Amino acid sequence: MIPFLDLKSINLRQREQFHLALDAVLDSGWLILGQQTEAFEAEFAKYCNVKHCVGVANGLDALSLVLKAWDIGPGDEVIVPSNTYIATWLAVSQVGARPVPVEPDLKTYNINPEMINAAITPQTRAIIPVHLYGQSANMEAIMKIASDCNLKVLEDAAQAHGALFNGAKVGSLGDAAGFSFYPGKNLGALGDAGAITTNDAELADKIRALRNYGSRIKYQHEIQGYNCRLDELQSAFLREKLPLLESDNARRAEIAKKYILQLRDFPHLVLPVVEGWSKHVWHLFVVRSPKRDMLQRRLLELGVGTMIHYPIPPHMQGAYSDIKNDFGLMPKSELIHKEILSLPIGPTMSDEEVDKVISAVRQAVSELG
Ligand SMILES: *Cc1c(COP(=O)(O)O)cnc(C)c1O
Repeated sequence: MIPFLDLKSINLRQREQFHLALDAVLDSGWLILGQQTEAFEAEFAKYCNVKHCVGVANGLDALSLVLKAWDIGPGDEVIVPSNTYIATWLAVSQVGARPVPVEPDLKTYNINPEMINAAITPQTRAIIPVHLYGQSANMEAIMKIASDCNLKVLEDAAQAHGALFNGAKVGSLGDAAGFSFYPGKNLGALGDAGAITTNDAELADKIRALRNYGSRIKYQHEIQGYNCRLDELQSAFLREKLPLLESDNARRAEIAKKYILQLRDFPHLVLPVVEGWSKHVWHLFVVRSPKRDMLQRRLLELGVGTMIHYPIPPHMQGAYSDIKNDFGLMPKSELIHKEILSLPIGPTMSDEEVDKVISAVRQAVSELG
C-alpha cells in the first residue's frame, strides 16, 4: 500500500537531529519565546526574502493576527477564494469581519483576479489570495487591484513554502503573509506551528505584542492580545527541517514532472497546469475526473492512497449556513470539489512507488473510460 502521505518516513530522516534539538532546548531551560524562536524567525525571514518573521501557534492564528493588527473587524469585508481550505475564511470570521468569496480560475484553482473587482464594495478592506496546492496566485494582477482600490493583501502561503512568482518568494509579495507549519505541509513541525512574514516593521512589532497577551514589556499590556506563540521546541525542530525544504520541494517537482509526462494521454483526466510565471512547490498533486469517486475507490483497491482537498467548499459548510444565501452561486468551486483527487507526492517516495502510482492511475482511468 502506498500511503497518501508518509509523515513517519519524512520525519525519521532526522531522528538524531530532533533528539539533539530537544536536548538543546532542555539544556537551555527556556521553553517559550527564546533563542530558538528568534533564530528560526531570522532564518525563515531570510529564506522568504523579507525583513520580518513572527512565529505563532499555527497558520490560522497567523492569518487572523494580521487582520487584527490591521484593525479589520465587524462591518468590514475581506475577499477570499471560494476554493480554499476553510481556515482562510475562518481567519476573517474570527476577527468579526465578513468573508466575501471569489471564484477560481479553473486552470490553476487559484482565485481569478478578473472576478475580484465585482466583489469589491465600500466595506472591502483586504484580499487574501491563497497559493493553493503549492502554486502562487496571480500576485501581479491582485496587487494592482489592491493598489487601485486601497486594499491590503494578505497572502495565505500555508501550502506554498518556497514557491515563486516571477522569481520572487511567496510570503514577500503582499503586505503580509501567513504560513502554517502543520505537520503535513511542505515545511512541517512536529506539532502545530505557524508564522507571519512581512516587510512592514510596525506590523511585525504589533503582531509580536498581539501573539503574547498584547505585551511588549513583561506584565505591561497596551492592547488586548492573545496567547498564540510559537514555542521553543517546535522552533528548534523547524530549524532542523528548513535546510531540507529546497531539496524536498525539488523531489516533489521531480515526481510531479513524471506524473504529468506519463498521465497526459487521458482526455478525461485533467492534470495540474503550471503558469509561466510560477515555480510550483507541489504541496498537492491534484487531478480532476468526472468519475472521481470511482477512481478513488479503484486506486485504493490497487494499493494507492489518495485524498480530496477538499470535499466540501467553505460556503457549503454548516459553519457558514447562516450567510450561505448571501454568496450567490459558486459553480466553479462546486465543480472542483466534486471532481478533484490528490495523488501521493511526498518527498520520501521512491521511484518504484512513483511508478506504481502511475501504473495504477493508468489502469484505473483506462477501466473507467
Ligand atoms: C493548513 C492551512 C491553513 C491553516 O493552517 P493551520 O496551521 O492548520 O492552522 C490555512 N490556509 C490554508 C490554505 C491551509 O492549507
